[in-house]
Amino acid sequence: MSAPHAVISGASIAGLSAAWWLRRTGWAVTVIERAPAFRDGGQNVDVRGVAHEVLERMGLVDAVRTANTTETGTVLVRKDGSVRAEVPSDGPDGATAELEVLRGDFARILLDHLPDGVDVRYGETIASVSDRDDAVTVTTSARRRLDADLLVVAEGVRSTTRDLVFTDPDDVDPRDLGVTMAFGTIPRTATDDDRWRWYTAVGGRQVHLRPDPYGTMRAILAHVGQDDLVGRDRQDLVDTLRRRHEGVGWEADRVLEGFATTDDLYVDQLTQIRMPSWRRGRVQLVGDAAWCVTPMGGGGASLALTSGYVLATSFADVTGRGAVDRAAVDRALAAFDDWMRPLVDDVQGIPDAVIRFAFPRSRLGLAARRVADAVLLGTPLRKLAARVTQVADTDRPLPPLVTVS
Ligand SMILES: Cc1cc2nc3c(=O)[nH]c(=O)nc-3n(C[C@H](O)[C@H](O)[C@H](O)COP(=O)(O)OP(=O)(O)OC[C@H]3O[C@@H](n4cnc5c(N)ncnc54)[C@H](O)[C@@H]3O)c2cc1C
Repeated sequence: MSAPHAVISGASIAGLSAAWWLRRTGWAVTVIERAPAFRDGGQNVDVRGVAHEVLERMGLVDAVRTANTTETGTVLVRKDGSVRAEVPSDGPDGATAELEVLRGDFARILLDHLPDGVDVRYGETIASVSDRDDAVTVTTSARRRLDADLLVVAEGVRSTTRDLVFTDPDDVDPRDLGVTMAFGTIPRTATDDDRWRWYTAVGGRQVHLRPDPYGTMRAILAHVGQDDLVGRDRQDLVDTLRRRHEGVGWEADRVLEGFATTDDLYVDQLTQIRMPSWRRGRVQLVGDAAWCVTPMGGGGASLALTSGYVLATSFADVTGRGAVDRAAVDRALAAFDDWMRPLVDDVQGIPDAVIRFAFPRSRLGLAARRVADAVLLGTPLRKLAARVTQVADTDRPLPPLVTVS
């Protein structure tokens, strides 16, 4: 009896978690990744809520803790850098979580701890998908043909395989949050400390600086508005960011200077992905490809990690029984949906008012925001403010797992 076979496209948090758990439960697993080699880098992500328990079950809490970003708390700063308010960071649900790690470091830990036998191929993408009752067949850009019981698409928010399979306009309902963020790594200076420092300026603009474990700083320039910066060439991007942020105060000019030379500048227009169904036949979307919650919602990495575990448990009925028939796939993927959807819905429901609150455009809006911060972040409402960062949280126990030795 041969093991069921899963092809997973995308080797970041969602794809590697699915690979980890499916392999542990007896699947043959092939991972395909578009990048020519493992992709390091990325910004701070955190492990919260039920994802913490998934990580414990993987035995990887200490590995993630060791790779911690070194961030010790979160503060809102004024134009001159003085601290205006401290955001609760105590306990596992603070703004700075107990487990803060760079996305690349997190994915590297998952990759390094994959069970034996997972075949990971870089520099390859899916060119076509043929989904039938008895199997799903993919052909890749390397002209490989792979037959599988399940295709897991974990390609992130701009997944192209999603677009190949979910072709009806009603299949995907992207929600553009109207916020653009530019990310990059810049040199650390003597003025930096180990907190996430966050400056909000008039005109819907923000500047963020966060420490990383490599002696550099991860910086973000964010603004409300749709400038369509994605895909622009570097100089154009730097010039546009300069026009937007120069002189807004605090460390904006330093960040702009750093962005002009950093080799990891990238920009994203925050878009939630909402889908009435994340599956089609034997194809299952997971992670940002299915439900991108964006950094505004938070918890994307936690949901991605959790989804790998829940996917494997959903096939508990068929674990160890060879090829998986179509009815069993339908049952399993329906169970996956039932378990994951409430977690995702909880994070995706960011009201527009929260975005307006986070990015005040006018001086009046900014003043109102400062008053609100003072109220929310002062005792006794600090606990309420901390709830905003409680994501991937549920009272439901994780579904049980059947492992195959
Ligand atoms: C600034 C920032 C801050 C964030 N903060 C947090 C946070 O505090 N907490 C949190 O939980 N989350 C946070 N997130 C979100 C988190 O990074 C994502 O939700 C998470 O990485 C999603 O993982 P994923 O595996 O689904 O997708 P991704 O990490 O996007 O990975 C997708 C992978 O698929 C590959 N790929 C893409 N297309 C193809 C293709 N066609 N074929 C094969 N491979 C392909 C990509 O190269 C990549 O390796 C943040 C994100 C950003 C940008």
